[in-house]
Amino acid sequence: MLSLSCLDTGARVIETDSGCDYVARGMTEEELWKDATEHIVKAHGMKIEDITPQFKNYNKRYIKHS
Ligand SMILES: [Zn+2]
Repeated sequence: MLSLSCLDTGARVIETDSGCDYVARGMTEEELWKDATEHIVKAHGMKIEDITPQFKNYNKRYIKHS
């Protein structure tokens, strides 16, 4: 299982400008990013097209394997 915690990335929730305790999960990176993308768009106000391969590659360092 892969997980990516918003807390680790330092992402802020746009509405409240507070830390975000959401953890995206998936069995594969593809599944993880499906979950994370939906969340990032909703809570962090990013656009789907902002979730680029570069963005994913940068945030790879925060993905935990368990
Ligand atoms: Zn978040």
